[in-house]
Amino acid sequence: AKQEERGSIVAYSKRMGDEIRDRVHLLRELRDAFAAERLFLVFQPQVELATGRCVGVEALLRWRTDDGGMVPPDRFIPLAERSGLIVALGEWVLRRACRKAARMAARGHGGVRMAINVSLTQFRDPRFVDRVRAALDESGASPGQIELEITESVAMDESARLAEVFGRIREMGLELAIDDFGTGYSSLSKLQRLRVDRLKIDRSFVQELGQGGRGGEIASLVCGLGRRLGMELIAEGIEEQVQAEQLLALGCQLGQGYLFARPMPADDLHAWLDAHAAG
Ligand code: C2E
Ligand code: CA
Ligand code: CA
Ligand code: CA
Repeated sequence: AKQEERGSIVAYSKRMGDEIRDRVHLLRELRDAFAAERLFLVFQPQVELATGRCVGVEALLRWRTDDGGMVPPDRFIPLAERSGLIVALGEWVLRRACRKAARMAARGHGGVRMAINVSLTQFRDPRFVDRVRAALDESGASPGQIELEITESVAMDESARLAEVFGRIREMGLELAIDDFGTGYSSLSKLQRLRVDRLKIDRSFVQELGQGGRGGEIASLVCGLGRRLGMELIAEGIEEQVQAEQLLALGCQLGQGYLFARPMPADDLHAWLDAHAAG
């Protein structure tokens, strides 16, 4: 048994070694891709559930490798976060997305919000607020058109410090949303202190709707909490009509998901908005 155990430890540490090598390799490739401008943004519409009208889009980062394959953000964003590369990468996303928002406004879609994902490392950066202001100035985007999303689990760890940064961002006129809401076990008081505009209900709760069972109860609790806080609710990952209907009945006004539209390249967005947005 001893021998067997040692064998499995050796196999385990070899696997760990391989994994670390893979990560270092991927990080090097990510830096190259960023430098070579092989990263780009796609945009996924957010709609009013009652009418189907588009009220916003979320900017999502994409990485296409040399051989044409795609690396999912769930693989490379955590790497970028751990290495600090996310600060530069996130600033690039911010500037790009603001520029796109300004172009949308120029084409008559200034009423369509641009939601941008921001990681905790970026919020911790003492120059973050300056970077946001610079992105707005440079693009000419109106602050009220921009919304920043931060994941609930990380937001709550440092809610006191974030409340201060959030305050400064709100003063500039931007909107704020808590992403993956319901996964972070936030207390009511912490949520109240952050005073965000919108709560984004995590896809895991949406998936369980329309299947019967207990899943719907959790979605109902999460929506109830948001309603009590007086915040607007948006659900992510809506794939079926029945989910949209149940969410609407639970008081969730907005939705995003494959049912309405998949994330699309920048070039396709304007035509889509012309057909689906009121302003
Ligand atoms: P997220 O912010 O929760 O984004 C929603 C994810 O759900 C996106 O995955 C989107 O493509 C996917 N999605 C949307 N509708 C549906 C649906 O109906 N069904 C299913 N199965 N999935 C749907 P994506 O683009 O792979 O992004 C994954 C995560 O990577 C994002 O999760 C976000 O946390 C992170 N991310 C993406 N872009 C950025 C970025 O620019 N900055 C930062 N910091 N994080 C980003
Ligand atoms: Ca998001
Ligand atoms: Ca999510
Ligand atoms: Ca997220």
